[in-house]
Amino acid sequence: MSRPNILIVVIDSLRADHVGCYGYRRPTTPNIDRIAAEGCLFETCITAAPFSPASYASIFSNLYPHQHGVNGDTVRVWPDAWPRLPQLMRERGYYTLGVSNNAFVSAEMDATRGFDAFLGLQEGWVLRQYNRILGRVRRSLGYPVANRLEINRLLCKTKGDSRGALRAAAGFIRAATRPFFGFVILMDPHAPYGAGRRAFSRSPAHVREFLRRINGREMWPRMMAYRRTLPQETLDAAIDLYDGEVLHADRCLGETYRWLRQAGLLDDTVLAVAADHGEAFGEHGVWGHGFALNDCLTRVPLVLRCPALWPPGARCDALVQLHDLHEMCLNVASYGDPRPREHGNCLTRGSDPSWRGRDFVFSQFPPQAGTLGFFRETNADFRPGTWERDMWAVRSRDWRYVEYDDGAFELYDLRADRNETTSVANDHPAVCREFRDRLAQHRLDRPRDRDSLDPPPEVDEVVLERLRALGYVE
Ligand SMILES: [Zn+2]
Repeated sequence: MSRPNILIVVIDSLRADHVGCYGYRRPTTPNIDRIAAEGCLFETCITAAPFSPASYASIFSNLYPHQHGVNGDTVRVWPDAWPRLPQLMRERGYYTLGVSNNAFVSAEMDATRGFDAFLGLQEGWVLRQYNRILGRVRRSLGYPVANRLEINRLLCKTKGDSRGALRAAAGFIRAATRPFFGFVILMDPHAPYGAGRRAFSRSPAHVREFLRRINGREMWPRMMAYRRTLPQETLDAAIDLYDGEVLHADRCLGETYRWLRQAGLLDDTVLAVAADHGEAFGEHGVWGHGFALNDCLTRVPLVLRCPALWPPGARCDALVQLHDLHEMCLNVASYGDPRPREHGNCLTRGSDPSWRGRDFVFSQFPPQAGTLGFFRETNADFRPGTWERDMWAVRSRDWRYVEYDDGAFELYDLRADRNETTSVANDHPAVCREFRDRLAQHRLDRPRDRDSLDPPPEVDEVVLERLRALGYVE
């Protein structure tokens, strides 16, 4: 076998515990489950950041958010100091293709450097005008009226078309004359939810109530405010629709899987399925993503299939970071190269029982002034609380330690308290001390040229419009 192709499909906002092969009670992901059964599943893959821009930038740069700088204010283009994964793959002789339904990974964000072919399905002129006009209509009507008219349903188009994205990727792959590196982002499980994604919906009335009152841009603050007044069934309706969206993304992925097999490419390709971060449904007081660093938001699915690299049915319980995908791609690109390689964090060792992976993984969530301002504006009851503080977390197999920049900290015992409901920091001062030191060391760990960077420039109004539609900025 020559060097394998690589196709990475990232399903935005997909939390690991809503995926069948990770133990979910519903059959949301038959195709991911099959890919896992034929490849290697990573039990504990942790993203460096629970929000899109920083998470994708980490995959592309192999750096943590405080190192790559796509952090804090989400509406920034990517700095150019670090070499991007597509560039590195192209230098290694790969044909590089990207298809993104996420506006944070777009030409406007300068996230497309190094791709031989890139299609941002949010970038067409017609779609821009569509989003711009609908956004204006909604703002001028006011949220209650816009919700009643189900304008959010139309705005769901801002999430793009997963089937179209994967078919576009297949088109690029067909044209490739050398090994390919593909990166595709699907947005289905990201809010707002499509009104038609009802495969798991139990009550039409509660779905209607959710769609009318909450779905869409104002979902997060509304959910926080309404939590006291909405019946649990309406909140459950959100999860039902989310699961329906997951199923839709999985079905589209299944088409691509079958196409790769028919085209005779499947076994010569590293097929990776992952998510950029999870999604919270009220855990830790959070709806949506960001604003907490617990497993519901940081633990993501990661499944890798390529028979030459992982035997079928492998399950890896080592601790890994999502951006270890970066090192894996570079390693795969040198597959067949007789020189020994550094295998420190390399996922290609996932099926090796002696491989320990990482002892500690790190995540960060910085204060998001713009989003908090929007929450305040749309919800008079909103209290930012802990969210105005910089948040850092260290996780081992057994513990999660969270630290805030005002000195507050929490410690969760993951063996006894999987859902991280009660901090046991007071009972384990020595563990806290150890994690505090680890974190301090991590925060000092910066690539040498990082400090000399200018702050990246603002992005233009067109991108802002699309980000508004997804609820990121006001
Ligand atoms: Zn995301």
